Amino acid sequence: MIKLTSWLEIPADSDFSIYNLPFGIFSTSAKNPRVGIAIGEKVVDLKIAGDEGLFNGLKFNSAVFESDTLNDFISLGKSVTNEIRLRVQEALCDESSVLKNLDSAFENLDSVKMHLPVQVGDYTDFYSSLEHATNVGKMFRDAENALLPNWKHIPVGYHGRASSIVESGVNIHRPKGQIKPNDSPPILSPTKKLDFELEMGFIVGKESRLGESVSIDEAQDYIFGLVLFNDWSARDIQKWEYVPLGPFLGKSFASSISPWIVTMEALEPFCVNGPLQDPPVRPYLKYDEAGNYDIHLEVAIQSEKSEQPTTVTKSNFKYMYWNMRQQLAHHTINGCNVRVGDLMASGTISGPEPETYGSMLELSWNGTDPVKLANGEKRKFLQDHDTVIMKGFAQKNNVRVGFGELKSKILPTV
Ligand code: MN
Repeated sequence: MIKLTSWLEIPADSDFSIYNLPFGIFSTSAKNPRVGIAIGEKVVDLKIAGDEGLFNGLKFNSAVFESDTLNDFISLGKSVTNEIRLRVQEALCDESSVLKNLDSAFENLDSVKMHLPVQVGDYTDFYSSLEHATNVGKMFRDAENALLPNWKHIPVGYHGRASSIVESGVNIHRPKGQIKPNDSPPILSPTKKLDFELEMGFIVGKESRLGESVSIDEAQDYIFGLVLFNDWSARDIQKWEYVPLGPFLGKSFASSISPWIVTMEALEPFCVNGPLQDPPVRPYLKYDEAGNYDIHLEVAIQSEKSEQPTTVTKSNFKYMYWNMRQQLAHHTINGCNVRVGDLMASGTISGPEPETYGSMLELSWNGTDPVKLANGEKRKFLQDHDTVIMKGFAQKNNVRVGFGELKSKILPTV
């Protein structure tokens, strides 16, 4: 990788290095929501950068920068959005750039308000971690036949609820629903098994036509970038409702995403091979190149009583059995179309070791082995006023590309 040096001061451990330059929607007291790029401890206001001529020669309507979602911007296509990102990167490295003394084009990252980056039209949640699917199968069904016969042939998924996808910082109320005690009829109750699911989600960047399929080789063109994704889950509601049609109210009450969309171009240096797929997959799902990404992931819980969060798991996106290209090729093999802003989540990302499991369900083994917090408290599942913090970053030599934080607090049932 070519070494880049910016004239802007960027902390060495910043997720938002000169190699990253993720897109998001921010606002300030003086600025309506608009498109920005995160760099170090700053946000670049693309509207103002464009007004100063940074994107001269590119054919697009700069009104896309003043939208309160990235949908129109992403719809410009990668040929434009990649060039915009590269122009900003060059400008941040060039002492003579128009950005150098353009203070009005920069805001402090810690003083802007971040918004939901895209309007999500449709949301699909996959179930693509072998370890997670095996663990859940053991607990919910049958330890001897944990993995269902279709799992290694199909990237299993379900259609989720887009209306309840919220940004980092939005509090989550404990949902209520039907729960089935072992020896009595079902009751309506606040969930007693509220959980996070550590996932990543990709944002679709290009629409496909109804009736057509996106091939595995074309799939990368349709993936704009990635976010951290917390697929909140109520395990007791889920357990009672999920047969025969899958997750419903145990999932649809909320899902949270991180505010900055990291582009596939920024993540390209961190491609790695996925796990060997055995038995071999059907030809339309066959992908022999490096289709996974080495992205460190972690989750911390901060209780109301503790000063510091406790990291409860460290996982990695590279563990996924099915990669994103395979998920998209499968999603469209029946002719189902995808649209800009659709969100496809990975499924809970668990690794092989217990300390890499991506949910409390697995970390506490359905409450039988509580997780210890640093201040001595224990958790089987999440409690009211707990804050859940997810982080993710890729790093190779001195190049770091990260996602920042996805942080949400649990509040009591309304
Ligand atoms: Mn999930």
